Amino acid sequence: MEEYKTKIIEEGLTKIEFPEFDKVSSDAPVFYNPHMELNRDLSILAIQTFQKEQDRELNICDLFGGSGIRGIRYKNEIDGVGEVFINDISEVANHYERHNIELNNLSDIEVHQHDASMFLRMKRGEFDVIDIDPFGTPSPFLDSAGYCSRRDSLLCVTATDTSALCGTYKEPCIRKYNAKPYKSEYCHETGIRILAGFVALTLSKYAKCIEVKMSHSTEHYMRLYIEVKKGSKRTDETLKNIGYVSHCKHCLHRQTSMGLASAIDEVCPVCGEKLIHAGPLWLGPIQNSEFIQKMIDEADNKQINSKKEALRLLNKCLEEASAPATFFDVHKICKSLKISAPKFDLILDELKKEGFIAIKTHFNPLGVKTDATIKNIQEVLIKLQDTI
Ligand code: SAH
Repeated sequence: MEEYKTKIIEEGLTKIEFPEFDKVSSDAPVFYNPHMELNRDLSILAIQTFQKEQDRELNICDLFGGSGIRGIRYKNEIDGVGEVFINDISEVANHYERHNIELNNLSDIEVHQHDASMFLRMKRGEFDVIDIDPFGTPSPFLDSAGYCSRRDSLLCVTATDTSALCGTYKEPCIRKYNAKPYKSEYCHETGIRILAGFVALTLSKYAKCIEVKMSHSTEHYMRLYIEVKKGSKRTDETLKNIGYVSHCKHCLHRQTSMGLASAIDEVCPVCGEKLIHAGPLWLGPIQNSEFIQKMIDEADNKQINSKKEALRLLNKCLEEASAPATFFDVHKICKSLKISAPKFDLILDELKKEGFIAIKTHFNPLGVKTDATIKNIQEVLIKLQDTI
């Protein structure tokens, strides 16, 4: 093993040592990204919540170990964890994973060196939690995760190929997720829905279905926490949540169509322009308020550095649980009307006063999730011009 100059960092209650690098990149001998601390902290809250809900000991698979930070933190910082399996295809990563297990005085953690899909298939049905946190896309590994996951288990999925999911590059999204993206103002939400839809369709081959417990899009990545259920009838039922979002670039109207092969309008019912479609994607819930509330409560019991940020995000996601799909960017609407933007909170208040749902979203600080139509929103924005 080559000798590296190393660095030790602390996250939560855990110490991790890894070779120093200049720039966060997959070229580093062992990968560690400090910007993912929030992702790992939220994972601890989600897995702890799941453990309490299930009320049993959980065996966890950290499929792309890197420095081992996830698997090691899960064993060290979550109650009710049985065995942890850390896997990585790289021998250097394995070396640091073993070293970091010792550094934290932990036992009951196994280290393995296999291709991720091979490892899942070797251990089919043995994990209560599978964490898929690779470089870039999780797509090639989801089939094995679908085949190997147990009933009532938790599947955690990270995707960092947001440019594909959000539609900056259309073809990679079609190739990797078999779905057409569209780069609208709410493309981060459609991106998460394309990812969730792809997981649902992949798992359905094995008569397994998904219940999304929590999801978020932060910085350069998207993350899903999914409970896997089993049964062909149930799976058929949940696949009714697969559908399409149709968007009008001209007037900003959007609508959803449920069903994989549903009839979809070709023209905008508001202005008559051509609609653009994104999908297939998941139109079912992407936030579960009961689960998220438990994650929020769990934050009091955990020592995590990102607590403030984690709670801010979780509280927004909690609200979003009761909101309809997609959201409007009020600045974009004002621009199209060639008027100034009223204060954001006044817009929310006015929409609510008129009887509509009006909820902020973590996807965009100027986004509003509402059941109001584009025309209703335009009227509110015009009405509020005298407040400017
Ligand atoms: N989850 C880690 C980061 C992992 S980075 C964290 O939270 O810090 C991705 C890791 O996947 C790298 O260490 C790389 O060696 C490993 N890897 C790449 N391709 C793989 C494959 N096909 N199977 C298993 N591991 C793989």
